[in-house]
Amino acid sequence: MKNEIHPNYVKTTITCACGNVIEVGSTKSEIKVEICSQCHPFFTGKQKLVDTAGRIERFRKKYAQYQK
Ligand SMILES: [Zn+2]
Repeated sequence: MKNEIHPNYVKTTITCACGNVIEVGSTKSEIKVEICSQCHPFFTGKQKLVDTAGRIERFRKKYAQYQK
């Protein structure tokens, strides 16, 4: 009965397209992502890999309003 509370909970590696690997706990054996906190332009401040169609820029402008 208790065994069914945490089914197949294992250590999992999230592999990003940029090569970054993050170790987490998950019920999935392997996770692959195309963007992570290491390469996302929002975190790096650089524009690369993806075209976010100005979403980040719009977010920054919106966020800037709250800081005034
Ligand atoms: Zn990445």
